[in-house]
Amino acid sequence: MLWGRKPRPCVFCHLNHDDFRIEYQDDELAIFHDIRPAAQLHLLVVPIAHIKNINHLDATHVPMLQRFEARARDVLAQDKFKDIVGASPEIRFGFHIPPYNTVHHLHLHVLVLPFRTLLGWKYSRKCGWFARLEDFLPTLATQSRPVSPTAVPMGGLSDRATPATDLAPVN
Ligand SMILES: [Zn+2]
Ligand SMILES: [Zn+2]
Repeated sequence: MLWGRKPRPCVFCHLNHDDFRIEYQDDELAIFHDIRPAAQLHLLVVPIAHIKNINHLDATHVPMLQRFEARARDVLAQDKFKDIVGASPEIRFGFHIPPYNTVHHLHLHVLVLPFRTLLGWKYSRKCGWFARLEDFLPTLATQSRPVSPTAVPMGGLSDRATPATDLAPVN
């Protein structure tokens, strides 16, 4: 319990064009630029409705996540991104695995590689706390109930201990 600390409003529930470079928005989702891009082009896709993180998803969310990817690909297909996307060796989609989230509102990372910084490892399978969408969706499709927060994280980490929550979080 943190005494005397006011709860901060969720920034991704209050998207505005002054603070975020929003590329797309509809009733279900919004797509905007990560404020600290790790790749040549680094977008985030968020649900308009507040969902805390991937532990609060189940099989019924698979179509929603597929729409996240489809709309992100539509954004990337725009003429203004043609050169960056055309030169990219890989477009990577994925989520950070709790507790490694700085914003506790579900967000899908869309990374148009190459990485711009050494922080690229945070978005790799090697990091261990990043679930690629293509690895995560088949697992999620078998979940009839939300994954419990104490469950083993996605991505083959079954023998890894839960990290202390005071470690430096990543976005
Ligand atoms: Zn929120
Ligand atoms: Zn993140």
